[in-house]
Amino acid sequence: MMDRKLPKYKVEIDYDKCIKCGRCATNCTFGAIVYDREQNKPIVKDTSNCVACQRCVTFCPVGAISITPYPVVYPAHGTWTPYHIRAIDEQARTGRVLLAGTGCDRPYPCVFDYLVWDACQVTNPAIDALREPVETRTFLGRKKRTIKIKEIAEGCYDIEDLPPGVMLSTPLLIEHMSLGALSYNAITAMLMAVTEVGTLMGTGEGGLHPNHYKFKKNIIAEVASGRFGVSPDYLNVAAIEIKIGQGAKPGHGGQLPGEKVNKLISETRGIPIGTDALSPNPQHDIYSIEDLKTLIDALHEATEYRIPVGVKIAAVNNVAPIASGIVRAGADFITIDGFRGGTGAAPRVIRDNAGIPIEHAVASVDQHLTEEGIRHKITIVAGGTLRSSSDLIKIIALGADVGMIGTAALIAMGCRVCQQCPTGKCAWGIATTDPVLSQRLDVNWAAQRVANLLRAWTHDLEEVLGTMGIDAVESFVGNRDRLRYIGPNPHEAQILGVKHAGERIRLGGH
Ligand code: SF4
Ligand code: SF4
Repeated sequence: MMDRKLPKYKVEIDYDKCIKCGRCATNCTFGAIVYDREQNKPIVKDTSNCVACQRCVTFCPVGAISITPYPVVYPAHGTWTPYHIRAIDEQARTGRVLLAGTGCDRPYPCVFDYLVWDACQVTNPAIDALREPVETRTFLGRKKRTIKIKEIAEGCYDIEDLPPGVMLSTPLLIEHMSLGALSYNAITAMLMAVTEVGTLMGTGEGGLHPNHYKFKKNIIAEVASGRFGVSPDYLNVAAIEIKIGQGAKPGHGGQLPGEKVNKLISETRGIPIGTDALSPNPQHDIYSIEDLKTLIDALHEATEYRIPVGVKIAAVNNVAPIASGIVRAGADFITIDGFRGGTGAAPRVIRDNAGIPIEHAVASVDQHLTEEGIRHKITIVAGGTLRSSSDLIKIIALGADVGMIGTAALIAMGCRVCQQCPTGKCAWGIATTDPVLSQRLDVNWAAQRVANLLRAWTHDLEEVLGTMGIDAVESFVGNRDRLRYIGPNPHEAQILGVKHAGERIRLGGH
């Protein structure tokens, strides 16, 4: 009795409305609602199993189900909050590391919410984005400070010696999420969406399923410490990214339990069925910037310098000098993943406490590389819970060339952020390898939703750039002067390189 889980949610069925269709019981993968054959009706078997995934509520045809916070008050205590009591209870019960999916759920302040942007008034006219073009295309890859034009035929010109790069229709891509962490249908839907929109998605460290090679022009292949699925074919894609770290679990390798390694995952990762896929915490051939350069050079050579090679790191204390080393090691782009970034499975203690926010990390890297005179050499990709188009716009102004989303794309496909991804029981068919559950996600429907989201954020970006009188997103990158800080900490504004709202600009030194 003492080992019973503390319920978080209360599930109730209104039997006056219920028509006994059984959909709630069929859809509940966590054992909260079951269908009682003897009573011939659905019953709440164990409300403590409810994770508020909302699948039953969504599919009940008569609105008979409600989920509310469990009506119990914890003894008021400023230190021993329900969060801590629940965690202690669970670890005392299981003796295990607590695993969680999605990103950090602690209520830390979000710096994006302390930033607002500028708009044109009187002397600097706005652009009407509905009538005039606003350029949202950008490039993933190393930039040249100067370019030379050569004539390749009479009246026909080309640019000389351009480094490898990929054109994106929007400064927004879908970050690395692997097959195994997510279902085949979820990965297929997102690949269809980025292909339709003209941007990219990362493979994560799970390799590339044979059926997904047709999307290769829109794929960033990840080379992680486990090297799962890495082959010459796998590297023949739009871009390659060496994974050093991930925002949700800096310093920690990927983990896919053997139960999730079925035939499909085994074929893709090149490992036996049922084997735990545990990536080492570090890349065992990289212990210095020189080692990193050796791998970047090897990947450039293996792909005949045709495609950009980037490096992904988690946002940590020394992110700026590390980024500087990555530029000097010859990377074409750097991906920085902030501490709120999502995951299929991470130790909660790491997910909720390690790393720094993406806002500070990007501002710091952009300023540092600019001071060192090497900012132009690299594309900065940044993510770690971009929740909205406004977060995307702010991260670009803070210094990122491209933003990336993960959880937002999952939410577009139905995810309710219930954090149960490591269990493999995702009721929405997203974070599971169960072939039956995976079928719950309609690939075409999901692809359309994700494509709509990418397009909608791009339209928002066009509108906002127009109101600032900016006609190309590349002119907005690192334009911190168009941001203002409205938070409580002036020192934070200084770190971000953003003026406080109302701060006067003194022209001509007066
Ligand atoms: S889905 Fe709704 S109507 Fe159907 S059995 Fe469950 S509660 Fe009753
Ligand atoms: S992907 Fe599924 S299990 Fe993971 S948070 Fe979303 S709804 Fe929950």
